[in-house]
Amino acid sequence: MSEIKTDKQALLRAIPPVDRLAGHDALASWRERLPLGLITDAVRRAIDTYRSQLVQGDSPDPDMSVGQLDDRLAALAEAVLREESLPPLRSVINATGILIHTGLGRSPLPQSAVDAISDVAANFAPVELEMQTGARGQRNDVVRDLLKELTGAESAVVVNNNAAATWLALMVVAQGRSAVLSRGELVEIGGSFRMPDVMQAAGVNLVEVGTTNKTRLSDYANAIDEDTAALLKVHPSNYRIEGFTESVAIEEVARLGRERGVAVIDDVGSGALFDYTPWGLGNEPDVRQSVQAGSDLVCFSGDKLLGGPQAGIIVGKQAWIDRVEKHPMMRALRVDKITLAALGATLQLHRDPQLAAREVPVLHMLTTPIDQLQTRGEALRDALLKRGDFAAVELTQAHAYMGGGSNPAQAVRSLALRICATDQSEQELAQALRSHAPRVLPRVADGAVWLDLRTVFPRQDGDLLEAIVAASQARTNEGKSS
Ligand SMILES: *Cc1c(COP(=O)(O)O)cnc(C)c1O
Repeated sequence: MSEIKTDKQALLRAIPPVDRLAGHDALASWRERLPLGLITDAVRRAIDTYRSQLVQGDSPDPDMSVGQLDDRLAALAEAVLREESLPPLRSVINATGILIHTGLGRSPLPQSAVDAISDVAANFAPVELEMQTGARGQRNDVVRDLLKELTGAESAVVVNNNAAATWLALMVVAQGRSAVLSRGELVEIGGSFRMPDVMQAAGVNLVEVGTTNKTRLSDYANAIDEDTAALLKVHPSNYRIEGFTESVAIEEVARLGRERGVAVIDDVGSGALFDYTPWGLGNEPDVRQSVQAGSDLVCFSGDKLLGGPQAGIIVGKQAWIDRVEKHPMMRALRVDKITLAALGATLQLHRDPQLAAREVPVLHMLTTPIDQLQTRGEALRDALLKRGDFAAVELTQAHAYMGGGSNPAQAVRSLALRICATDQSEQELAQALRSHAPRVLPRVADGAVWLDLRTVFPRQDGDLLEAIVAASQARTNEGKSS
């Protein structure tokens, strides 16, 4: 006992001064690349961490001699420098089976969108300039024609996300007046987007009609008075009432709005641009259908079923879109050249459903046949059984989910590797996967780690295999000591 204490004291006394450690041979290549100030910062952080480990608990290196301390600390400082030289946001392998995962940044972009981003990101790009005449242009012109073509709308505008789109549409149409909304559509979508709160933030008075399960056209009609500026429809994306229900189709709401001279705003959420039922997704409201029905403004997301960058898209009648573009808050909600480039490239792929299914990653993942997952899964399972030591590795039927504000009950048939380690709990194995490079996000259920193959790109299979092998062998001291 007293021996260990002496060792700790000796190590604490032997910690070198920052300047000496910053000159250590192991950091030579970093000194060539970085200013000395950044090296000494990293050295200081490494020393502080090591010192507090010594003071607080077990010696991190029980067998180490005082003479080895400089090398050990230099190695720690090098690890700090390496970590700090990587961008703070880096990609992960999504093995959760959730296709549009808001926590993972929603949709991975199509290759053409990635190329478009890289072109405009590293260069100048005419987002508000008419190149033919050299005159000032409108920011949304580069995507406006595509959006008109794909939705049949008279005009279109793009903002930061669909929450912003709905907020802005409400402000433009109904600020200081009231909007009618069915109690069945008075929903919360993803944490902080609650319809009543958004309306309040837009300065719009909410008039609730109908009941949670049933709303009829007469409910809307009876609620309209001289104060009514809008009839609002909201797709209850991630929420479903089953059984004794009734809601009013957008065609009927739009007709009523026309008859009574009240504008109609339709927040369709995920923004289906064509029929997804052949791919097993039912009930996603179609943007074109809402436009055709006569909605004045239709709002949807760029990064849900569209599979593009985060954006909110508003399409609709020319006069209303013009007013949206002139609204003072437009400046605060507008998108940058990177979003415009990615959105434009993604929209081009939606001109044809087959092209979209091939090139838009979330749609490609959604439509991948199960036997392709089977082939990949068997190869991974066999390689794991050969390479690692596991209590169990099975290829199991699983359910993937669209996620991201579409129907949560909408399960997609999938396959997952179900893994139990020999000397780690499922939580420890999952933690080791999350901290591996590249990092892997699995699902934990029924005492095992699940890796759903539908959301893993085939090009990531090799990395996934290495991550599982390494994670199953990882030391899990941190998990166990607490
Ligand atoms: C997802 C969703 C929103 C919010 O969209 P974001 O793009 O996440 O801001 C708003 N309304 C509906 C109906 C949605 O499904």
